[in-house]
This record gives sequence, C-alpha cells and structure tokens, in this order.
Amino acid sequence: MSSVVDVINIQTDFNAIREELIDEYLDQSQNFPWIVTFSGGKDSTLVAHLVFDILLELPPNLRTRQIYFVSNDTLVESPLVVSHMKKTLAQILKSAKILKLPIDGEITTPKVSETFWSLLIGKGYPSPNRGMRWCTDRLKIQPTSQYILNKVSEHGEVILLLGVRKDESTTRKASIESHQNLENSNLTPHTSLKNAYVYRPIVDISTDEVWEFLVFNNPPWGGSHRDLVQLYRDAKGGECPLILSEDDAPSCGTNSSRFGCWTCTVVTKDKSLQGFVDVGKTEFQPLLDFRDWLVEIRNDEKYRQYRRRNGQITMKNGKLIPGPFTIEARQMIFERLMQVQDEFGEELISPAEIEFIKRTWAEDVIENFERSKA
Ligand code: SF4
Repeated sequence: MSSVVDVINIQTDFNAIREELIDEYLDQSQNFPWIVTFSGGKDSTLVAHLVFDILLELPPNLRTRQIYFVSNDTLVESPLVVSHMKKTLAQILKSAKILKLPIDGEITTPKVSETFWSLLIGKGYPSPNRGMRWCTDRLKIQPTSQYILNKVSEHGEVILLLGVRKDESTTRKASIESHQNLENSNLTPHTSLKNAYVYRPIVDISTDEVWEFLVFNNPPWGGSHRDLVQLYRDAKGGECPLILSEDDAPSCGTNSSRFGCWTCTVVTKDKSLQGFVDVGKTEFQPLLDFRDWLVEIRNDEKYRQYRRRNGQITMKNGKLIPGPFTIEARQMIFERLMQVQDEFGEELISPAEIEFIKRTWAEDVIENFERSKA
C-alpha cells in the first residue's frame, strides 16, 4: 500500500510532466498537430489522461494545436481488450466534443486484402511464427503509418506522443536511449516516417507510478480507470502497445506482450485469453483451442502445397520447404473458424473478408490448374 508521502511525490512528478506538456503544446516553433497513439493500455491511457488534463487547464484561446488520437484494430484483437479500447476512445471523443477541445480520433484497420484471415485462409499463409512473422507489418504498422503519413501530407509535419517508458523492459530502455533528441528539444525524428517527430512524455515514469496515478486519478473524460485495472488483473498484466515501426515490433508477439491478437501463433501461449478463462470467462475457451490448433497444423506437410504462391519450388539442404496451406486446408480452417464464431456468438471474420477469401480460392484453383497443364 502506498504511503501518503509516496502519493504526494508521484503527484509532484506528474505535475512536472503536465507543465512540460503545456510548454510543448504552446511552443510555436513546432506548432504541428499532435498524434496520440492510443492502444487503450495503461501507458497510452496515462498519456491520453495527461493530454486531456492540460487542454482543460489551458484557456480556450490557447487551445490552438489540433490533437488526433489514433488507435489500431488488427481485426483479430483480444475481444475484451479491443472493446475496452473502443469504449474509452469513444468516451474521450464524446467528452472532447462537449468540452469543445481540439481533439479528433480514428481507429485504423488493415486493408481487407491484408487482414489475418484474408492472408491465412484466403492466400494460405502459414500461421505466423518467429521466423515468418508476416502479420505485424500488415496488421499494425502499415495501417497506422498510413494514417500518420496522411496527416503529414495534410499539415506538413506531425508530432507523435508515445506512451513508451524505459521501465517497460531492458530492450525498450536500450531502444529509447538509442534515439537522439533534436538540439534543445524533447523531440526525436521518427526512424521511418519522414516529417514525423516523436515525443515521449512519460519516458521516465515507473510501472508502479503509472498504476498509482491511474488508481488515484479519475480520467478527465469521465468515469474511472477501474475497468482498465480489472482488465489487466484478469489478463495477468502485459500489453501489446501500438506498433509504429519494426523498432517496436520485437514486443509484438512475445510472451511479455499479453494483449496481442487472439490468433497470435507467434507466442507459445496466449496468456491474456487464458487469464480471462481462468477468472471464469469461459466463452473464450473455443478461441484458445482454435489458436492452439492453428499452431498444431502449421507444420503438417499434408496441409501445405509444395509450390509457393509464385509457382516456385524451394529446396534447402536437399529438403523441400513447403509453400502455403493447400486450398483444402484453407477450407478446413475456414469451416472450423465459422464453428468457433457460432459458439462464441460474436463476429470473428467479416463478410468482406469472406468475400475476398472465396475470390482468392477461385483464382488460385484456376492458377493451379493452368500450372498443372503447362
Ligand atoms: S500479436 Fe502476434 S499475430 Fe498479432 S501482429 Fe503481433 S505477432 Fe502478429
């Protein structure tokens, strides 16, 4: 239990962050829009909370910088996590509108042709693993990078507010420390997005301080952070933050990122879904079983084509490297997914994805037939 002195100390630290945020917000030498990357996890919620606070603190005539909140939905997010993210973002935007704050927001999603199901079931990509992680770029990096690039072309330059902290892990600390701030500035140029700068307002805050703040301070957009705390308790901690570059990607699909996609076959076990099942949310059991089954069938050669999608046959050390899932295997996965969806009672795959998948199967059947005649 925190002592009164601890609580006073962390409030002092957070007041200093608020002051710095105000200085940055009012700095006319870099008056570009802010983009707050909001995953709905504890760190980005803390940044959102502080940003909202400082806007309320400023008189309306000084609230001239536009702020965008961007979230990403891979369309295979852990259902409770994505629903929390959407609910919180909607609440933030609604309150901002009522309070006339210059805040706008959007949820980015992958293109239909690039979703997890379109690639796995439609094109037969083998379930992703450490050696072939085809998903992060398509599901997470590209949709959000595109959003940011659109804002760059609209405004010339943008500043990304990230909830990253050195205390998250040694890898994160090393990654943060490898970036140099611009001279006399808190901003770092983004490694891959031109004209985008990164600002990390809570970089030196510890994990305990994040939780203490969230527990003792209700969000300025209304309600409390209780649902978030409960979500972490049930999921047994961890999160998959919003990923903006390959630099951030090592945390995606690792055992320390427990709030990833429910379909993630890169992790050995889905700890967040397991956590929900362990606390009695047994409706997630079919999803867990399906994920485990995807891992199981991945390397079974009877489910894999010997040719790659481009028609080539790949050999390594005299051994055939199998290609994508066969059309039959893709159909089998699809049927099983539809059963899981019925059992779960909520949409797991969209009609647009199903249409794309069926069209891709038809094209692949024709192509395979033509290849066999050649
Ligand atoms: S959480 Fe797993 S499935 Fe989702 S993008 Fe990351 S590595 Fe891929």
